[in-house]
Amino acid sequence: MRHDALKAERPSPAAIDPDFYLYERYRAPASQRRALNAYYAVKPLLPRRLQIAARRLYAKRERPAFPAWPIEPLLVEHEHERLRRSLAEGALARLPLVNYWPDGRRFAVVMTHDVESSAGVENIAAVLELERRHSVVSCWNFVAEWYPIPAATFDLVRDAGGEIGLHGIKHDGRLFGDRVSFETELPAIHRYMSDWGVVGFRSPALHRNPDWMGELGCLYDSSFPDTDPYEPQPGGCCSIFPFFLGELVELPITMVQDHTLWEILRRPTIDLWQVKGDWVIANHGLINVIVHPDYVRSPQRLALYARLLGYLRERIDAQGGWHALPREVASWWRNRAEMSVVVEQGVPRIAAERSVEEWRRRATIAWACERDGMISVDA
Ligand SMILES: [Zn+2]
Repeated sequence: MRHDALKAERPSPAAIDPDFYLYERYRAPASQRRALNAYYAVKPLLPRRLQIAARRLYAKRERPAFPAWPIEPLLVEHEHERLRRSLAEGALARLPLVNYWPDGRRFAVVMTHDVESSAGVENIAAVLELERRHSVVSCWNFVAEWYPIPAATFDLVRDAGGEIGLHGIKHDGRLFGDRVSFETELPAIHRYMSDWGVVGFRSPALHRNPDWMGELGCLYDSSFPDTDPYEPQPGGCCSIFPFFLGELVELPITMVQDHTLWEILRRPTIDLWQVKGDWVIANHGLINVIVHPDYVRSPQRLALYARLLGYLRERIDAQGGWHALPREVASWWRNRAEMSVVVEQGVPRIAAERSVEEWRRRATIAWACERDGMISVDA
């Protein structure tokens, strides 16, 4: 399976339109859909072990030059070029902007879990207990009609301070296959979101279509990796910051998936998480992790997950991170979009007439400047 659209040369960060990458317009939609539909046509015929073997083989092929993996810096570099230009045009030593995160925080962290099966449901309590020890809260995305969800499950998550999200109606890869499938499933999606009282969506197998996502009608979606060559729908939005798909806030998944790390690449470590996490932190982005409760059942995997939690907790405390639920991050991002910095007689302030009072209070000014040829943003 070759992806011709991914052979493209690396674009120049100064010259690009970010939307072209955020919406993955650099990929050829028709060939992308054909490859995906072919995969899902044969997938049910393959035993699970063969599916994994096929994906391991696929993962061994040469990775595309773009987007780079596990770090694709294009949109970070683009933003730096934009700030550099603004500094130069205004002949400014530093430029005020609305800080990326509330309370002067330097980066954000959300933890998410996609529950794929009954085995995952049964493992929720053990995962929550590990998180409690690290003062981490998480969002649990459930597939509505794929396995039984016992009545007490949502309370278990919510009592631990967690959030519930919808991970599709069925996990069969059909939702974004064509327009008829999408429109057939949409009313059930709306109904479950309302019945469950949830505001976030995570697409099964991270299938996505930027032009349809807005019809989900919720606060946020979280189905776009920033870069991921290993998923059935490879590619990525190249962003480590939330962005908008119409009214919908998109929270990109910015960390390698547990399944990719442990099953496809067979690396029983957290090294790639640390490398990527440190880069996202250095650039003040959003760390958005998926860990499946279905894959962290053995003592070894639970120990690896505890190491990830320890790493995140240490960085959050030591480097001023904002750890929140996805719905809080999405709400902040939507309100932040209504804010701007106005400078009156040399004094900057945040104008935020249309923002919710709580977020307005928690917004702060950050300063961009150029140091030794590099752009940095200080809170
Ligand atoms: Zn899933």
